[in-house]
Amino acid sequence: MSERAAPYYCPYCGDEDLEPHEGDGEKGSGYAWACASCARVFRVKFVGLRAAAIAEAGRATPTLEENA
Ligand SMILES: [Zn+2]
Repeated sequence: MSERAAPYYCPYCGDEDLEPHEGDGEKGSGYAWACASCARVFRVKFVGLRAAAIAEAGRATPTLEENA
């Protein structure tokens, strides 16, 4: 995933008029985005994967013996 992956909507007001807030990049946290509608500047950060999704992918195929 690129650090420049763009959000489509402002998480505060829902407007689509977003632009990169240049000069406010932070290593590991990506760029900040400025909303032209509500003037908020925010950052979208990747946190990790859902623990449930990881557990599901690593589980072996269930067998009928488990319920006997
Ligand atoms: Zn906004």
